[in-house]
Parts: sequence; C-alpha cells; structure tokens
Amino acid sequence: MSKMRVVQVTRPNGPFEIVEREIPEPGADSVRVKVEACGICHSDSLTKEGAWPGIQYPRVPGHEIAGIVDAVGQDVAAWTPGQHVGIGWHGGHCGYCDSCRRGDFVTCQIAPQVPGIAYDGGYGEYVIAPASALALIPEGLSAVDAGPLMCAGVTTFNSLRNSGARPGDLVAVLGIGGLGHLGIQFASKLGFRTVAIARGMDKEPLARKLGAWSYIDSKTQDPAAELLKLGGAKVVLATVTSGDAMSATLGGLSVNGKLVILGAAAEPLQVPGIPLMLGRRSILGWPSGSSIDSQDTLAFSKLTGVRAMNEVFPLERAAEGYEHMMSGKARFRVVLTIEH
Ligand SMILES: [Zn+2]
Ligand SMILES: [Zn+2]
Repeated sequence: MSKMRVVQVTRPNGPFEIVEREIPEPGADSVRVKVEACGICHSDSLTKEGAWPGIQYPRVPGHEIAGIVDAVGQDVAAWTPGQHVGIGWHGGHCGYCDSCRRGDFVTCQIAPQVPGIAYDGGYGEYVIAPASALALIPEGLSAVDAGPLMCAGVTTFNSLRNSGARPGDLVAVLGIGGLGHLGIQFASKLGFRTVAIARGMDKEPLARKLGAWSYIDSKTQDPAAELLKLGGAKVVLATVTSGDAMSATLGGLSVNGKLVILGAAAEPLQVPGIPLMLGRRSILGWPSGSSIDSQDTLAFSKLTGVRAMNEVFPLERAAEGYEHMMSGKARFRVVLTIEH
C-alpha cells in the first residue's frame, strides 16, 4: 500500500521507465496529490531531452496535473484532503526575488518551480507540491478535462484576458493545434470577433465549430491583407512554431495591435520596424500564469464550456502518448489517466 508507480526519465534522451517508489510524505508547506490525470505538454520534452539548464535526474515529467488532495503538511492552512485540484507550469516560487515581491510569481527569478522539471511531476500516482501551486477544480469538471487547462488552457486564456483586447475587438488565433484550438474557444467566449488562421481550407469547419467568426487560409490568402480587410487585429495570438507564419501576420495588426507569442518559434522572426513604430504595434510573449490564474481558467471553462479535445492514454502507455504528441499527430492534447 505504501508503494506507487511513476514514469521516470534517468538521463537526457533516455527512455521512459515505469518504476515503483515509496509514496512520499508532504513537507510542512506542501501537499500530496493523488493524481487522476496528467496532460502531456510539448514542454515535457525539456525533461525528456534534458534541455532545461541544471535539470536533475531521475525526473518524473508532467505539469498538467489534476487530482485529489491526499495529505497536507502541518503549515498548510487553505487546503484539505478530498479537494479536487490542479497543478500547472507554475508549481511554486521563491517568495523573495524582485518578481515575487511584486506578486509576479510566474516570472520568479530565483527558483521557478515547474513540476516535472524542478521536482517530480504528474506522470505517476502521487505528486508532492508546494501548497502555493494548487488551483481548485470546480465541481463538474473532470480530471481529464482539467489537466490540459493547467498549461495549454491557462496560457491561452490568461494571455488573451491580459492582452488589452476588449469585447467586440478583432482577435486572430494563428494555428489550430493543441494551443490554438483552445485559443479560438477562449477568444470567442471572451467576446472577441475571433478569426482563425491556418494552412488549408480543411480546418475551416472545425475552426467555426470552436467559435471562429471568420477563417483565413494562409496557404492561398495573405493573412495580413485579409486581417486589414476586417479592420486590423487588436491581437494576433501566435500558437504556431513557425517564425515565418508569425511574421506574415504582422502587417495585419491594427493601431496598438499586439502579436502575442505562445508558440516556441524554431527560427527568428522577420520584423519590419517602421510599421511597429508608426502604429504603436508590439510583439510580446506570455508565460502561462500563476496558480490563481489557472484556477480562473478552470472556473471560466466550467462556466462557458471551453474544453480541450483530448486523446487519452493510460499511464502505462506514457511513452506512446508522448511520441504521439511529439509527432504532431495528436488531435489535440494527449492526457494520461492514472488508475489506483
Ligand atoms: Zn506545458
Ligand atoms: Zn521568486
């Protein structure tokens, strides 16, 4: 009864290994969560491939965690066993760096604690996490639904709600993948005139089903020109990994428009400086959100019906699920489920 199964990586590019470990006890400020589901995020490759500077092995990946509070440390005031909680990219913070002192926990400069990178994450039966990392899952939202909202969800929702765009503004979502299919739903539910941009007409029906008001096929149309015809975008939410595809939308930004980068671009962006200057246009990135932002994301999703489209794999098939996600074939998020 005191053992648990986890899926670990023991070296950069090493295989996933299913091993048994002792079930750990939470420290004074920590909580033990019985994991029910954990989304597989592209950033899990930082753990699998060892690209995160200073990562220690063995490491259990996973930062899209949904489960039940199982035990709480002696100094934890706000959480009790039995509560349904999520843990996302923001898995804790130092509390004393300049960012933390300004309440900007997700940009913690000293010890950003990402589950699955700084400590063992959700590819396993139990996780120990700082109490500050928990987000309450509202009643009626399943663990499989909550998991992907803890990274992909909060990243798209929180960037959009902080973008400065207001209801009725034109907002474009570039790409219809793991992030983009959530971005379209959130943009639509937040009241934006939502334009989806993707390659080929075959994705238009899905984009419209997800809430897009208009669709631009970037294979046959010039995204910038099409956005200008619609009045110019206040925000382009870039969820793709192609720098060229991002650059191609810059000319479609309205005055004060923003290109918000969520996808890790493989190549540098080509940026013409003068249009940025003359129209006060800008390019910025957005790093998910803190645990309360995740909680807001879960609550908003419950309220409005935003859900990730998930392919579900049992924990034992984590390697297969990970390969499926990395291959780009997943429609649209992959989620591990954990039997106890
Ligand atoms: Zn992630
Ligand atoms: Zn800090």
